[in-house]
Amino acid sequence: MIETVEWTPELGVGAPILGVVYGFRVRKTGEYRYVGQTTKKLARRISEHRGVARRGRKTPFYDWLRKTPDTDYEVVVLERVVTNREDLGEAEVSWITLFRATGDRLLNLSEGGLGPTGVVWTEEQRKAAGDRARGRPTGVHLYGPDNPRWGSRHSDEQKAKWSAMRKGTYSGADNPNFGKFGPEHPSYGRVFSAETLQRLSEQKRGEKNPNFGKTLSAETRAKMSAAQKGQPKPSSVRSAHTRHHTNKGVFKETCRHCIDDRTNERGSSS
Ligand SMILES: [Zn+2]
Repeated sequence: MIETVEWTPELGVGAPILGVVYGFRVRKTGEYRYVGQTTKKLARRISEHRGVARRGRKTPFYDWLRKTPDTDYEVVVLERVVTNREDLGEAEVSWITLFRATGDRLLNLSEGGLGPTGVVWTEEQRKAAGDRARGRPTGVHLYGPDNPRWGSRHSDEQKAKWSAMRKGTYSGADNPNFGKFGPEHPSYGRVFSAETLQRLSEQKRGEKNPNFGKTLSAETRAKMSAAQKGQPKPSSVRSAHTRHHTNKGVFKETCRHCIDDRTNERGSSS
């Protein structure tokens, strides 16, 4: 069991703590449905969640928790934070952002961070939500015109605001998974849907690629060349295909990667 040091208001801003970011993961599919943070003992936090669910709190997460047998999910420690509560909040935000980006259907109401839920509701919002929820059976989702959000869209302004908030929160060393490979990585062994793969690919194509239009300095090129000296090139059939076919716009019937690429293009455009 992971030891945590509980944060209390008396400790104040920036006080050292030990906390964890945790995730509720469906055993069968590996999908994460909820990400949380706590400075309590994790087992205690989990039983608190179950208690809240039993008492009938109506939120997407507690609706899900109520109807899902305990044996169907596991709670995974995603990250330990040993600095301060602010960092713990930021770590939670990063994990939520990551899982949302990879298509996990998180039931979190907020994007994480400080505060009990990260969201501060106005009195009007609270009342409107209450009116909407009253009389609605738990665990039942409203579809189509019955859904209060049916036909409404977030404004471009709101979306731009959220986008700016998330920007860079999970790049480089800021990514909680930075430097983790293989079984160490929480998404090890997980399979993305064709849809998600397509979306991720589009996000990095052409001008959207961080390396688009960049040229390496002579110095860098010399270093790379020296490091790879003596290694036969291309190092694989795959790189030969990239170098001699993809990059030159050549198609060869005898190359399985050419065939694969063409099959994939057809599959995604239909
Ligand atoms: Zn090829």
